[in-house]
Amino acid sequence: MHKYLKRFVHKSPWLYRINAGSCNGCDVELATTALIPRYDVERLGCKYCGSPRHADIVLISGPLTTRVKERVLRVYEEIPRPKITVAVGICPISGGVFRDSYSIEGPMDRYIPIDVNVPGCPPRPQAIMEGILKACEIWKKRIVEVA
Ligand code: SF4
Repeated sequence: MHKYLKRFVHKSPWLYRINAGSCNGCDVELATTALIPRYDVERLGCKYCGSPRHADIVLISGPLTTRVKERVLRVYEEIPRPKITVAVGICPISGGVFRDSYSIEGPMDRYIPIDVNVPGCPPRPQAIMEGILKACEIWKKRIVEVA
């Protein structure tokens, strides 16, 4: 990577969201980090993007249902390295209220390595922001290793 690009690229990670069968509770809280100035991720230098191929940090909600598992794993593979993964809510961490259900494949770390856990059902926006901040710190270190 060019030295000037290296100097600036770690200041502006792009975020991507994956819904792995969530009840949408976590996604509503995630929306506040995109839409409400009080919790706006752009204040952290981040930006949500619409394509996994542009993403640096991925936020995953939901317990990973059987119905979406293959699609979630395929989309995850499309994210370029180093991809930092944030589990949003208790569902991707342990299955939450859906744990041991017949249609649940999770916990998520059976299939996808998780870097940051943000527990809660759903987690508060402040906790999600803190999780994103932690992910940014991890990403800054890894981008230098990969470059
Ligand atoms: S953690 Fe709670 S709010 Fe979030 S997807 Fe699971 S059940 Fe819904």
